[in-house]
Formats: sequence, C-alpha cells, structure tokens
Amino acid sequence: MPTPMVLELIKQLFHRPATNCFPVKYYPSETTVTELIKKVQEGKAKINSPVTVPEKFRGKITYDREKCIGCRLCIRVCPSRAIDFLAEEKKIKIRIDRCIFCSQCNDICPVNCLSMSGDFLLANEDRFDSEMIVK
Ligand code: SF4
Ligand code: SF4
Repeated sequence: MPTPMVLELIKQLFHRPATNCFPVKYYPSETTVTELIKKVQEGKAKINSPVTVPEKFRGKITYDREKCIGCRLCIRVCPSRAIDFLAEEKKIKIRIDRCIFCSQCNDICPVNCLSMSGDFLLANEDRFDSEMIVK
C-alpha cells in the first residue's frame, strides 16, 4: 500500500512546475549577468515572463498620495518600521527594502490609499534607488 507521500510524489510527476526559470530559460554559462542584461536591453535575449501572481498577492506597495490624510496609522502598525512620516507635507514614504509585505498598513489605512500590487521583481543593488522608495 503506497504511503500518502509516495502518492504525492507520483502526482507531482505529472504536474507542471509552480515556478519558472528566471531570468532566461537557458542561461548561457559564458555570459555574466551584466552581459545578459545588456543583451536583453539590445533585444538579443529574451527574459522569461514571470509567473502570474495569485489574487490577493502581497507585492510592492502602491500609494495614492493624493488620498492620504496623514493620520500615521500605517506607521503605528508597521512591524518593520518601513514607513517614515514626511511632517512638512503630512504624507508618508515607504522603504521597500525594509518592508516585509505583511499588508498591515494597507489593512488599517482609513482612506484606502495603500494597496499591495503584484510586483515582486524588486531586487536592487541600491536600497535608496527611486524604485525602492514609495512616496
Ligand atoms: S506591508 Fe507591512 S512591513 Fe510593509 S510597509 Fe506595510 S506594514 Fe510595513
Ligand atoms: S494610514 Fe493611510 S491615510 Fe493614514 S498616513 Fe498612512 S497612508 Fe496616509
């Protein structure tokens, strides 16, 4: 009698993988990542499109600055201190390098100006890059 684990293993043999190769399917071993990026920019190599994210996926935060009333509730609940208050403007700034994508800020915001997008390709060499700051 096969155990549940064996059955699961057999089932997985016929399933498509849940992940995809990244960034390219057949990464040429003689190419560095920098060269690869250059090839992609020149249109000589194609990046695999990322897997589609499920509904309610918690990716990079988006912020509707106009709607924000500066109540600071998001700052209070943020466990990783990723949100700074911009006192002069009464708005916020979110540091993506600190964010753990818990969505607590999003859940508590009284005017729904925060939301979690499907964007998860967030690797960056510079934590202060404009891509890593939401404001
Ligand atoms: S998602 Fe969580 S960690 Fe990220 S800014 Fe909001 S409260 Fe902070
Ligand atoms: S909880 Fe919402 S309205 Fe309040 S400061 Fe944060 S983003 Fe702005």
